[in-house]
Amino acid sequence: MKLEVDREMCMSAGRCVLDAPEAFQLDEDDELVTVLPGAADLSVLEFQLIADRCPSGAISLTTQEGSGT
Ligand code: SF4
Repeated sequence: MKLEVDREMCMSAGRCVLDAPEAFQLDEDDELVTVLPGAADLSVLEFQLIADRCPSGAISLTTQEGSGT
């Protein structure tokens, strides 16, 4: 599972920052979302809830399935 944040889609709503301030913050310069090291401590379920609540769809989770066969 990999967290992906598309900063160009972020509309600076701050929803993710309210949900998980240890994992997300708004950049002081451009006010777009930045992922913090604390994001590594969130569960997949927590990420899914945060991604679902992002009004711009900027946050997504991708599965990294094994290659081959
Ligand atoms: S919830 Fe979505 S739109 Fe709002 S700050 Fe986070 S990434 Fe950006």
